[in-house]
Amino acid sequence: MQDPDVTAYADTLREEGVAIIAGSVTDLAGVTRAKYVPTSRLGAFTRSGMGVSPSWSVFCVDSGIAFTPTIGVAGDLRIRIDPEEVRVVEDGVGWAPGTLTDQHGRPAPLCTRTRLVMAERAAAEQGLQVQMGAELECTMLATDAGPATTEPWSPYGIRTSLDRSGFLVDLAVSAQRAGLSVEQLHTEYGHDQLEMSLAPDTPVAAVDAVILARIVLSRVASRHGLRISFSPVPFDGAAGNGAHLHLSLSDAQGPLLSGGTGLHGLRGAGGHAIAGVIDTLPDLIGVYAGSVVSPLRLKPGNWAGATACWGLENREAAVRFVAATPGNPHGANIECKLIDPSANPYLAAAAFLGSALRGIDRALELPEEIPENPAQSDFSTRPLPLAQREALDAMETSQVAAELLSTDIVDALLAVRRYEQKTYGDQPPEQICDAVRLAWTC
Ligand code: GLU
Ligand code: MG
Repeated sequence: MQDPDVTAYADTLREEGVAIIAGSVTDLAGVTRAKYVPTSRLGAFTRSGMGVSPSWSVFCVDSGIAFTPTIGVAGDLRIRIDPEEVRVVEDGVGWAPGTLTDQHGRPAPLCTRTRLVMAERAAAEQGLQVQMGAELECTMLATDAGPATTEPWSPYGIRTSLDRSGFLVDLAVSAQRAGLSVEQLHTEYGHDQLEMSLAPDTPVAAVDAVILARIVLSRVASRHGLRISFSPVPFDGAAGNGAHLHLSLSDAQGPLLSGGTGLHGLRGAGGHAIAGVIDTLPDLIGVYAGSVVSPLRLKPGNWAGATACWGLENREAAVRFVAATPGNPHGANIECKLIDPSANPYLAAAAFLGSALRGIDRALELPEEIPENPAQSDFSTRPLPLAQREALDAMETSQVAAELLSTDIVDALLAVRRYEQKTYGDQPPEQICDAVRLAWTC
């Protein structure tokens, strides 16, 4: 957008009642942070950006800062937004996803959104088109961050949803106003748990929509006397919150995950893509589910995909294969179930896509399908480093993680996650859950 167009657009937004505009970045700890301008300064947010310290990237889940040998108190970065991406998130407030740049406008090495832009570009250079879809699971809380209700819950129950219809209706209206394409909304299995799923889109747009949806969910909830937790496990022993991503790929001949002669219609490259994702799970679990609370979710029976395998519609497999059927109009895709909402979703998406591309590039062999609950089957799978310390150690020594995400990002991610390990790692689970319950709320 040219300068005069930005000014005219800012005027239009002001006429629509938008008084302030946020530009957000999501840091390595998965926390979304923002700076605001009055709407009249939209042009400045675009051209020069708003200043932030480089330490923004290593802010932690609490108020800690995990300084590293290269990230200290000196230096300055900018958040820049694209005016065309401004959405209305509540009365008077606009929001756009920010890119972290240096003062000259070049993407900063720790900009996680740019990392996903690069992965999307790498796919395009391989002649591939990519679609990603997101499922957001979260837990409704009371305003004091305790349980919203104590009465018996009914998973997917018409009672548990209709009891909150005012909230759900407001959510649907607000999501539409914000430009979100909501595919489904339901009360989930866990007590006071909610899920919203979003329509597939190109990767960066799909993850921008995840951040937008988290903001809208959190804001609408607060208007209804509720808060929202995006913690992987908000209360010890409760059902976990996943942040599953779905991925589909196609080339000039069509989709890679359907229309072929392989198992469930897979084409060769589709099988290699699945193999690539499974091959790198031990290296990347620190990216997908690397927070101090993540391991509490990664247990058999939680449908969190804590086993390094794949299977058709298998909800206990790290990679659930979803076939192209009339019941699935978006076509065949693979779902990475390991991902939880404490992960930075741009990085999780970049790792998921990057590992699929790597599998195609190296023509990795599709492992045997596990068509049943892996915990109750005879198949053996590669063990995953599920404990936080093990996951971080695996990521630290992983060449793949460095290749897909850069050593700058891996080092900063290790710094914030090791801070969590040191600060909370030895505490009992219920204390860990208490400490980070609101960390990822928007
Ligand atoms: N709540 C589960 C998780 O933590 C997922 C349940 C589902 O498959 O919808 O990932
Ligand atoms: Mg679900």
